[in-house]
Amino acid sequence: MNLILMGLPGAGKGTQAEKIVDTYDIPHISTGDMFRAAMKNETALGLEAKSYIDKGALVPDDVTNGIVKERLAEPDTDKGFLLDGFPRTLDQAEALDKMLKELNKEIDAVIDIHVEEEILVERLAGRFICRTCGATYHKIFNPPTVEGTCDRCGGHDFYQREDDKPETVKNRLAVNIKSSAPILDFYKAKNVLHTIDGNRDIDAVFSEVKQIIEKR
Ligand SMILES: [Zn+2]
Repeated sequence: MNLILMGLPGAGKGTQAEKIVDTYDIPHISTGDMFRAAMKNETALGLEAKSYIDKGALVPDDVTNGIVKERLAEPDTDKGFLLDGFPRTLDQAEALDKMLKELNKEIDAVIDIHVEEEILVERLAGRFICRTCGATYHKIFNPPTVEGTCDRCGGHDFYQREDDKPETVKNRLAVNIKSSAPILDFYKAKNVLHTIDGNRDIDAVFSEVKQIIEKR
């Protein structure tokens, strides 16, 4: 079972990824982990990637694709794999297609965990902090016991970090939506895209994920 997991920040992709790899015992291939491993093992591509990262530059697609290809050629992927965080662009999706053909593999399903943008903004922009004592709260997941009053120090003055402000979160989501749209279209045309409603509890989402996997 060769899978790609997609979903915007805040959609719960990480949680579902963990459940999938635990249940089906397949390797979880995330770009972050792959980069770290390639750099640690000092592979040629790992060293090349490091030279960009050290300069604070973006790693070019051909280096990223090369690292993914090396990872997908490892024998533990024979029983399947879960790709997470790759492909990030249409070019990468096309490159992935080509490398899988060379490796005699194909993608069985692309699972997109979909959550409406407004809900993601609520989830991602809900964090706020007590200015007096630094205690952290979340409007939905961890509100103070008494609204407007800090549980720890009784203070009433709260603020949000720049990264947690709705405008910043909206911009981050817009960038992600724009880059993922052509990738979703690409897999839709290949009849492997499954979009599921991620605005439910974790087990309900995972039960639908399982249905998709087990039907293939
Ligand atoms: Zn406080």
